[in-house]
Formats: sequence, C-alpha cells, structure tokens
Amino acid sequence: MVVRKLLIGVGVVVTSSSIYFASVSERSVVTDRKRILLYPLWYESWKGAHKYADQKKTTTIVTNHPMSRSLNESFSKIKTVGVSNLLIEEESRFGRRGKNKLKKISENTKGELVIVHNDILEKNAQCFAGGHVIVEERIFQMLSEKESRVVLCHEYAHCILRHHNEKGFIANTCLVLHILILVLHIPIVIKGLIRYDCKMIELEADKVGIMLHRACGWEDQVFVEAVLKICGDEDSDGKT
Ligand SMILES: [Zn+2]
Repeated sequence: MVVRKLLIGVGVVVTSSSIYFASVSERSVVTDRKRILLYPLWYESWKGAHKYADQKKTTTIVTNHPMSRSLNESFSKIKTVGVSNLLIEEESRFGRRGKNKLKKISENTKGELVIVHNDILEKNAQCFAGGHVIVEERIFQMLSEKESRVVLCHEYAHCILRHHNEKGFIANTCLVLHILILVLHIPIVIKGLIRYDCKMIELEADKVGIMLHRACGWEDQVFVEAVLKICGDEDSDGKT
C-alpha cells in the first residue's frame, strides 16, 4: 500500500516536472534573494505576451481615459529613468555582473500600459511577463494621479524581478504538494512556506517599486501613502 502511494506521488512529481525544462536556482536581481526560476527569459516574455493578448480580448479597454496620457508618460519614465538608475545602483551593489543581468532583463521588459474597465478583474492592477501592465479604472477613485504611479512601480518591479516565472514554480509546487498531502499525508505545515514565499514576492515588489519610484524623482511619502490606501481597500483586498 505504501509503495503504491509512493509511486502515485512520484508520478505526480514527474508529470508536473515536465514543464521544468530549464529551471535554475539563482539570486533575484536588486534584492539578491535566492529563488527558483522555471523558464528562460525569452520563453517567459513570449508566454507573458500571449497571456496579455488573451486578457485584452476579454476586458474592456478604456482608450480615452483622462488619466491615460499622464499615466503612460509615468510608465515610460519608470522604464527609462527608473531602470537606468537601478542599473547604476545594481553595479555598485553586485558589480558588473549584476548590472548586466538586470540590463538583459530590462531589455526584455518593454511592455505597454492599458487602462481597463472590467468588474470581473479582482485586482487593482495586473502585470504580465515582458512588462505589460493593466490598470483597473476604478483605482482612480481611490488614488490620485501621483499615487497611481506607485501601482505602476510595483507592477513593473514584479516584471523586472521575474516574479511570474517564480510564481510558476510556486504554483506547480503547490499543486504537487497538495496532492502529496492528500496521498502521503505530509503535514500541512508545508503550505505555510508557500504562502510565505508569495508574501516575500509582494514585499520584494514593494522594495524595488519604491527604488524605481525614488529613481524617477518622486517622493517616498507618496509611495507610502498609496500603499496604505491600497492595503486598506476592502473591495480589492489590497491585491496588486
Ligand atoms: Zn504585487
């Protein structure tokens, strides 16, 4: 009976692992946190572009939103000024190697920004590998123009930190663990570690987000105030 359970468990792991075709263990840029990535950068960007295109088909894009122009200008600034200042900082912290790594990632992260109106979207904003960002229109009821930049910085930080790739690993590990817990009765405490990892990803995006925000010449105080507002928003449960 135990052998059978073990074989089922191994089978689940092997099946789920089939997508781990180029997984590596490495350190996250800017924060140096150790993590596991599932895919190479080119595949990550390609996958993100497809997911973004699919998402756009099912959402209502607000083309002439009054905030559209200023938000796009802020987004461009984050991608140029913010990232180039991060590159300088990365070199001083981790040397040329760290700088080159971030440079390669930022070159593959040149996505676009759209504002959407869609009540189904539970989050305030969503980002996709490759740098595409979708902002839900209702966020402007809660945040000012300056504060909305904070959301862009946070989302773009997710992109350059390659969190989609990392979350792929967490999601698959989660699936494997859920089945292993059911089949092999592994203590449920393991799930706590996965939640901890997801929390770390959000904190890391805030950390790099505020670095980008500052690198663009925007005040830290605005970042903090916007984060507090988003965290206190019951409708969205603070998700970005
Ligand atoms: Zn986030």
